[in-house]
Amino acid sequence: MNQDTICALATANGMGAIGIIRISGEKSFEIVNAVFEGKNLTKVASHTVQYGFIKDDYEVIDEVMVSVFHAPKTFTTENSVEISFHGSPYIAKKILEVLIKNGARMAKAGEFTMRAFMNGRIDLSQAESIADLIASENEASRKVALNQLKGGISNEISFLRNDLLNFTSLIELELDFAEEDVEFADRAALKSLLSKIEEKLNSLIESFQYGNAIKNGTAVAIIGKPNAGKSTLLNALLKEERAIVSNIAGTTRDTIEEILHIKGHAFRLIDTAGLRETSDEIEAIGVKKAKEKVENAEVLIYLIDASTQDFSEDIDMLKSLLREDLKLIICATKIDEVIPDQYESIENVLRESITQEFDFIKISAVENQNIQDLKNELSSYVEQLKSEEGNVIITNQRHYEALQKSLTSVRKVEEAVNFQITTELLSYELRNALENLGEISGEFTNDEVLGNIFSKFCIGK
Ligand code: GDP
Repeated sequence: MNQDTICALATANGMGAIGIIRISGEKSFEIVNAVFEGKNLTKVASHTVQYGFIKDDYEVIDEVMVSVFHAPKTFTTENSVEISFHGSPYIAKKILEVLIKNGARMAKAGEFTMRAFMNGRIDLSQAESIADLIASENEASRKVALNQLKGGISNEISFLRNDLLNFTSLIELELDFAEEDVEFADRAALKSLLSKIEEKLNSLIESFQYGNAIKNGTAVAIIGKPNAGKSTLLNALLKEERAIVSNIAGTTRDTIEEILHIKGHAFRLIDTAGLRETSDEIEAIGVKKAKEKVENAEVLIYLIDASTQDFSEDIDMLKSLLREDLKLIICATKIDEVIPDQYESIENVLRESITQEFDFIKISAVENQNIQDLKNELSSYVEQLKSEEGNVIITNQRHYEALQKSLTSVRKVEEAVNFQITTELLSYELRNALENLGEISGEFTNDEVLGNIFSKFCIGK
């Protein structure tokens, strides 16, 4: 049991209608009670809200509502109090000062969540999902984080890990009876369990590409010759987004990347700053610059002006930009200006010259023709990254690495069984695999890893 009682501002540090200060630890009730004018907080029932005032000696700091939570049914499993005050950063500071004066101490980053983990209320992957949930900026990342918080990845793994633990116990029992040459652990059953674990690990590892798209968005480059219609398309794509964003005061937009949301997925439009300029300011985008943009992209949208007669330059440019793992969408633009025959022939020529697979979409950004098709194409690209089975998706680099380590060690166990390596060695490899599998939920971990995870949290979480 941790003895310190900690306190911190749980809401964002800035002006708001209400701010919340959180207190957790054995002495929470006594400490808050000492500065509270209202009912005696050490006597009130759990999960109740009390009206009153926070005072520093005889001076009232603010009129507040205080929520009281008795251990163990609290976030940290410790006695906890939440003070809702009028949301001024100055009042927050004054209340925190008076709490500290009465025996609390300022919480470190992530310390509330760390206590929830240390006290066994959540496992490590769930603690991490809280940080992800707070950071989620789109529907898909919110859903994945929430699923993780409910125990997603831990459930998938702990089941198999428990079975493996049973085998390990049996193998270790064999070691105790080494002289008698007995076999308690059925090797065939162990093999089948190992291949089940391997399959699960593989599918979780594969889900990381999709997980990454969810968490960080998919990087998209829009390329084309001057006047191809890039900035007009960008505006058409972002039309609704901008309307939403401009209503939120204080929203800062990245000057280099614009974010486009389609069906709950985020797309990062790389280096669109140049596209903001008016047509006459635009310089020809050099091959080198285009290459740099595409290097960081997963999707390339290449625009060709449909009224162009000769697009050999476009084909050369495209050829120099292509990569096997790049999703390519070629758009013939300004189709409102030309007859269908013309843009149809563009597609034919492209299909003859470009070997890599691509989607061909004919658009008019000015008349908003087929822009939806382009959006659908982007969203289905992300959707197809989703693995067929399983709804648990890995979004966290640490989990990804731990899963890969687990896979390597499970394969070593398999080898040990297949080649009938000594029971000692088999038991050693099994322990290793158990440890690696346990890293995800935090059953096996060290202070450095924990420090690293929780230090990324905000104070008060
Ligand atoms: P960028 O240099 O590639 O960014 O091209 P712009 O988006 O600035 O477009 C160049 C010119 O083509 C502008 O005068 C646009 O109004 C025009 N344009 C762009 N898209 C369309 C379109 O779909 N239809 C028509 N008719 N004109 C377009």
